[in-house]
Amino acid sequence: MKWFYVENGQQAGPIEETEFPRLVRLGKLRGDTLIWREGMANWEPFSAACPQEFAATLTAPAATDPAVTGDESACAECGGIFRRDEMLPHGNVFICAGCKPVFLQKLAEGAKLNTGKLDYASIGTRFGAAVLDGILLWIVSFVTQMLLMAVMASTSRSQPNLAIVIQIILFLVGMAIGLSYETFMIGKYGATLGKMAVKIKVVTADGGPVSYSRALGRYFAKFLSGMICFIGYLMAIFDQEERRALHDRICDTRVVLK
Ligand SMILES: [Zn+2]
Repeated sequence: MKWFYVENGQQAGPIEETEFPRLVRLGKLRGDTLIWREGMANWEPFSAACPQEFAATLTAPAATDPAVTGDESACAECGGIFRRDEMLPHGNVFICAGCKPVFLQKLAEGAKLNTGKLDYASIGTRFGAAVLDGILLWIVSFVTQMLLMAVMASTSRSQPNLAIVIQIILFLVGMAIGLSYETFMIGKYGATLGKMAVKIKVVTADGGPVSYSRALGRYFAKFLSGMICFIGYLMAIFDQEERRALHDRICDTRVVLK
């Protein structure tokens, strides 16, 4: 007899009646879980529709379940019944050989999350990245500004008082280049090319990726850090724990080793 049941609002199955005890033990079948088989007019709660001999399994503790003998346990991953000496014990649960790779993978990922300790980049490494980015941006800005200047000079030769306007435009263009470079690179890759070169990246306090808006905010916060003789940057030296510069504190970011 093939049965179907509702799991997370979705139809699951088909399952044989013999699988009822296992699914009950896994918590997938409860008294109010809707089940159905061919011949039934409607879906009905498991407690009402299940055959009499399985009704007992609803409340029966796992130890008295006839499906599990003294040498066997249900796998905590897939729920299958296996001989315990062929399974991997973990705490008070057992994992079958088939689920072992997946389980160990999960464990490794969980362990990485749980340690929560980030490898904060030293001020020297960050300085190196800033120098590389500085050189790169200087070259790009220089070339762009030269081209712009050439274009503007040729169109406004008769009006020398436009020099200031040109200066302002050049400044804004330079800033736009820096702003889009930092926001895009950090928002998309977590690092500018300079940071990539020295293998560091910008993350949130919990090690997650930095959004575009946070990357943009951080760009402006760096102005603040640079304003008073770069004291905002130097703050990273004195933050023994997490090596935060002023802009990292403002935007709640950290710079870590990749
Ligand atoms: Zn398993």
